[in-house]
Amino acid sequence: MEPKDLWEKKLLVFDLDGTLYQDRSHFAVYAREIARRLPEEKREAYLWDYQNSLLGKGPVQFGDFYDAFLDVLFRRDEKGDYRAYSWEGELLPQVKAPEQFRPGEGRHIFVGDDWWVPLVIGRHYGASDSDIGQAFLLTRAFQASPQYELPRNERLVEFLRSFRQGGGYLALMTNSPQPDSEIILEKLGLRGAFDKAIFAAGKPLLTRAHLQSLLQQFRVSPGDAVSIGDNPLNDILPARILGLRTVFIDPYQLAHEADPDLSFPHLDDFLEWVMSEKTAARS
Ligand SMILES: [Mg+2]
Repeated sequence: MEPKDLWEKKLLVFDLDGTLYQDRSHFAVYAREIARRLPEEKREAYLWDYQNSLLGKGPVQFGDFYDAFLDVLFRRDEKGDYRAYSWEGELLPQVKAPEQFRPGEGRHIFVGDDWWVPLVIGRHYGASDSDIGQAFLLTRAFQASPQYELPRNERLVEFLRSFRQGGGYLALMTNSPQPDSEIILEKLGLRGAFDKAIFAAGKPLLTRAHLQSLLQQFRVSPGDAVSIGDNPLNDILPARILGLRTVFIDPYQLAHEADPDLSFPHLDDFLEWVMSEKTAARS
């Protein structure tokens, strides 16, 4: 796909967190709020594992599947096959990977973006659904507060405006709840930037259903639509199955998980690429 091909598409569907902004400071709040809900004697080990995992030296790596029932991590080897590891990093040859992982159903948790590192470590140390839910809501409240600053991304604002002016439609599809997502959009200068926004989207289980209804609503064929996101299982794989084009924002080099049409380490790299041919856009 060349930049001019993207400008000719009719519908772009964006994820929000990690895609339209890449600030990470709120993940520290999320980790701290999960830690606070653990028994006191486990907090230090939790934070230690969290910090080390972010540095690539801890138990959890991006691209892992965590089996919450077995407390085992599945990680691909050089050939792409999943191998099981204990929390301490020991290879467990006797534990076989399932035929198919089923993320979104509670047992298999895919570490597909920054939200999942604190969560998986929390699960290992015994955090409950309600602990994690509360920690998440407090994190979103922090992001909605004035002390959380997000810079406007002028290039993004300009790209979205130009795409729409050219007759294309823009949709937002995020797993995050509406009120705080709207505050984030406001901070980013993106209020009213989308023709349709889907909050609390329930990706990955509901990604395809939402995409199908967007295609219908805007009367766009799958090949004329693009899904843009930072989570391979939520944003890229289901879109590819439907025949959409895909752009993967990939800070952790997980492109092999979903085989997107294009990947960029950062949204700004995508914007630089697409704006390089703005002159060739529809006028
Ligand atoms: Mg995301």
